[in-house]
Amino acid sequence: MRKRRICPKCGGPMVGYPAISRKDNQTEICSTCGLKEALDAYKNRG
Ligand SMILES: [Zn+2]
Repeated sequence: MRKRRICPKCGGPMVGYPAISRKDNQTEICSTCGLKEALDAYKNRG
């Protein structure tokens, strides 16, 4: 059985591979938000 999952970050449907949030390392988010978090983390490094 397939579950349709919703990204808790943007509220959109999870398409493709989910990403794990860097915030707590366990929340599954959509790949778009995963990419955003990765970019934010990169930016925050200076
Ligand atoms: Zn998302």
